[in-house]
Amino acid sequence: MSSPETAPATPPAPAEASYAALPKVVLKPRRALPFFGRHPWVFQGAIHHVTGTPEAGAEVALVTDRDEFVARGLYNPESNIVVRLYSWEPDVPLDEAFWSRRLDEALRLRHDILYRDGIPSSYRVVYSESDGLSGLIVDRYADWLLLQFTSLALSTRREMLVRLLTEKLSPTGIWLRTEKGIREAEGLNVTDGPIAGGNPPRPLFIEENGVRYGVDLVEGQKTGFFLDQRENRVAAMRYLRGPRILDAFCYTGGFGLNLARRDDVHEIVSVDVSETALNLARANAELNGTAHKFRFEKADAFKYVEKLQQTGERFSGIVLDPPKLARHRKSVPEALRGYHRLNRAAVEMLEPGGILVTCSCSGHVNREMFEAMLADVSSSCGRTIQILEARSQAPDHPVSVHCLENNYLKCFICRVV
Ligand code: SAH
Repeated sequence: MSSPETAPATPPAPAEASYAALPKVVLKPRRALPFFGRHPWVFQGAIHHVTGTPEAGAEVALVTDRDEFVARGLYNPESNIVVRLYSWEPDVPLDEAFWSRRLDEALRLRHDILYRDGIPSSYRVVYSESDGLSGLIVDRYADWLLLQFTSLALSTRREMLVRLLTEKLSPTGIWLRTEKGIREAEGLNVTDGPIAGGNPPRPLFIEENGVRYGVDLVEGQKTGFFLDQRENRVAAMRYLRGPRILDAFCYTGGFGLNLARRDDVHEIVSVDVSETALNLARANAELNGTAHKFRFEKADAFKYVEKLQQTGERFSGIVLDPPKLARHRKSVPEALRGYHRLNRAAVEMLEPGGILVTCSCSGHVNREMFEAMLADVSSSCGRTIQILEARSQAPDHPVSVHCLENNYLKCFICRVV
């Protein structure tokens, strides 16, 4: 794949076309503020009526009840998000040149700012709302791209988007995946499979922080690999010490494989419930020549961590990276109870001065809630917890200030005394 070292050429001035010709989505009175504030999701409840009969995927103009222009967006009456907004300029159409400029901007961030000293073999190329492209996720794994549509409207522009991505990145192949539940939520009619270049190698090999991983683009969890933890794996390495590490919810070995390279680390107990993930984790440990340091356990880690604690096991460092525990706002209290039990058992197993790397990818559980949970854990087990770093997701998963819903990952590195 080509890796442009410089920014894409400055795009030509956009063509002008008045929004007046577009079908209009008219907001209810007093509902326009969030959209003037550039939040990109317009829900049914905010809409008064729609003029004309736009088809799913069509470009529309969002206007107030007084017919003032707010933004341009794409329409999908099948979705809870009836309009996704992309531009607040009245006269710039959402045409191919527009999407091309948005992709260039996404690439400019990755290539000119984040990775100007060398493009990593894998990174998130496009992160939906965070890159002004609500409904599109593109990850790069070595020479392959993995494409994920989370909106119907952009999926109807698939051919064009694939052409643009191919022109800009020349991938060996492109694989399409769809997140569970999105087909129903958006009325999407897409099948996972190859878009270009046939089937990807399984696994496909990537390198991150000098560690090699096999990634399964076709059936691996999320989009195959947890790219969002890249910088957190490096940061965790700065603090975690041997001899004995617990990597709970290890997936394909992420944190543990980094630690295994260190002389002071003698044993890494890596736990996951997925046999497929563990098989790849084992293969990755072999690939990196560190298999002798690992003990892989297939278990429900919530129960397993408590069992380890009850049997008096001790660790010098513990990583907790559970799956999303709160899918909705209403499940936050239950999620916090889950985090509490898990973190409490972990804290009790840490040697004095041990390091706890504790993560939450539940967007609904905010930082304050997570900190309060850690404070409760500290009080209930009588151990001091100091937060050394309160981290977030890797910068190739940026967060738009207008769509904080994408600010989901918390990674706290703590010392437990
Ligand atoms: N730390 C990993 C990513 C973890 S993702 C990395 O750096 O790559 C969350 C993991 O939790 C997934 O691998 C999933 O299989 C696992 N998981 C989900 N529920 C679980 C459970 N109850 N017990 C153990 N593992 C679980």
